[in-house]
Amino acid sequence: MKVDLHTHSTRSDGSLDPAALVMLAQQRRIDMLSITDHDTIAAYRDIDVHHLSGIRIIPGIELSTTWRGIGIHILGLNIDLDNRELQRGVDQQLAAREQRAVEIARRLQKKLDIDDPLPAVRAIAGHGNIGRPHFARHLVNNDVTKSMDVAFQKYLGSGKIGDVRESWADLASVTRWITAANGTAVLAHPLKYKLTRTRLLELLDDFTGAGGSGMEVVNGQQNEEQTLKLAKICNARGLLASCGSDFHNTESGWSAMGSYSKLPDSCTPVWSCW
Ligand code: AMP
Ligand code: MN
Ligand code: MN
Ligand code: MN
Repeated sequence: MKVDLHTHSTRSDGSLDPAALVMLAQQRRIDMLSITDHDTIAAYRDIDVHHLSGIRIIPGIELSTTWRGIGIHILGLNIDLDNRELQRGVDQQLAAREQRAVEIARRLQKKLDIDDPLPAVRAIAGHGNIGRPHFARHLVNNDVTKSMDVAFQKYLGSGKIGDVRESWADLASVTRWITAANGTAVLAHPLKYKLTRTRLLELLDDFTGAGGSGMEVVNGQQNEEQTLKLAKICNARGLLASCGSDFHNTESGWSAMGSYSKLPDSCTPVWSCW
């Protein structure tokens, strides 16, 4: 069975609209797909999840939070999209994201001595909520940096001027919204935070203490050693294992939809409880 439980559409920072994303998944013969946009479930207004042929759609979201000052992402999978507590949480995150965009724009304008980037960044984001990649695109469009990567390295990445983190709800809150909506809370891409093993285990303690019950054992392209390391932690903690491409667009080969290593047989797949 082909499963991809981590993808992005134009409703956040992906390049395909939700219908096109689902069509691509059908072409790739994916059996189970979740669209997990950053801090929004708007994609699910655009598709009819119950009437698609050959594919099961699992309603999902990727929520931003901070833990000990580090930006952390939590996936909410198999959520009830109509749950009021989740909806209120999402509204709060969207307001925080909007406020953060204003602050990022202010900082970049001052630092780079450029015109207010916000109107152009809004246009780039289109129907989606604004994220740092839209700012990165703007800096490339205006020849401030030669690539999105450089824009992140110099201005938007961790610890840089455009990295405004105070805005998100805390770990316990985002996890509670997911469980309130009968969803499974899953720690996204545990290796991306570059934590020591001890710190990662502490994060998992706090996360499971708040009701989190899964972690991504496979996220995009990673090597077997990384997968086995995560599988071991996942099993030792009795957590459910998730897998996904973290697909954003068809250009970047590192996160092609549906193509990533298989979950190790030792893991309990997160979908086994749905
Ligand atoms: P945000 O949700 O606004 O905090 O933006 C985070 C998103 O930026 C991530 O989900 C990635 O899609 C993207 N991102 C993070 N680091 C980089 C990078 N170095 N180059 C390109 N995109 C990145
Ligand atoms: Mn993203
Ligand atoms: Mn993420
Ligand atoms: Mn993601």
